[in-house]
Amino acid sequence: MNLLSEFLATPQGLQLEISNMTRVARVLLSCVHRGLKHQARYFHPSVSRLCGDGEWNYYGRGPNKWHEQFPIAKGQRQSPIDIVTSNAKVDKALSDNPLKVSYSNNCCQSVTNTGASFQVVVDGAGTEISGGPLDSTYKLVQFHAHWGPLGGDEGSEHTVDGVTYPAELHLVHWNQKYKDVGEAVDKPDGLAVIGVFFSRGKEHAGFKPISDLFAKVPRKADKVDISFNYDPACLLPARRDYWTYLGSLTTPPLFESVTWIVMKDPVEVSAEQLAALRNLLWETPSGEGQMCNNYRPPQPLQGRLVRST
Ligand SMILES: [Zn+2]
Repeated sequence: MNLLSEFLATPQGLQLEISNMTRVARVLLSCVHRGLKHQARYFHPSVSRLCGDGEWNYYGRGPNKWHEQFPIAKGQRQSPIDIVTSNAKVDKALSDNPLKVSYSNNCCQSVTNTGASFQVVVDGAGTEISGGPLDSTYKLVQFHAHWGPLGGDEGSEHTVDGVTYPAELHLVHWNQKYKDVGEAVDKPDGLAVIGVFFSRGKEHAGFKPISDLFAKVPRKADKVDISFNYDPACLLPARRDYWTYLGSLTTPPLFESVTWIVMKDPVEVSAEQLAALRNLLWETPSGEGQMCNNYRPPQPLQGRLVRST
């Protein structure tokens, strides 16, 4: 039984009728960063029951407890991983068929505080990635990030030979061979995520229009529309060399559905831009606090091959 089915079934075995998979998908993807309970409750009462009393988070019910609600957390293709560069296999096929990324400058619709990150919601029309490790075309659906403490060097989810970065951006795409993102979200080839490390350095002019919006969405579920043209390709490093491997979502429900494309070169953002991430607030046991340390640590490789351009 796949996890999507588990999510949509009541304990009594009553299968939820899915008349609109897109809506299901939005809920699931949104749940990835909002905590299942809050989003799922209005969606269907049986789903909120599955969430139980313990909404997943990054502190009391943090990554080392996720397996209690989501057993796949101990699965065979979990993410993130530590990328051991000397073990990555250079694959000429990747450079013979280069990764193509084409976004549009009016695809970004809004920024939301999900309670676990920011999320830029994208209208995928006109956005396409293909080539490289991908057998078909994928469309962008959202992007978000994970980061660490103020001034720290940790915060990225993937690590490179054990080295961390202060933040990691994730651009999430879904495979066009499926009807919609809801159908794709739990399929082995359903999603492709481009990961970009943020290093501390110069201000990133491309990230600034987004980081300037964080102060407008301080609390969970706060949302602001993006009223300007913005092409998220500006967040990619100039050199498109990458590592790729088969993995999972890094937040519950941890579906093993992601072809990861992790850019080798970080992009520089300023200390102020990293600090702006902390304009986002979340709930902690001791009250409202600045959002940080919203990353999952590396998971066992389980014999998987990491390929390199
Ligand atoms: Zn992520």
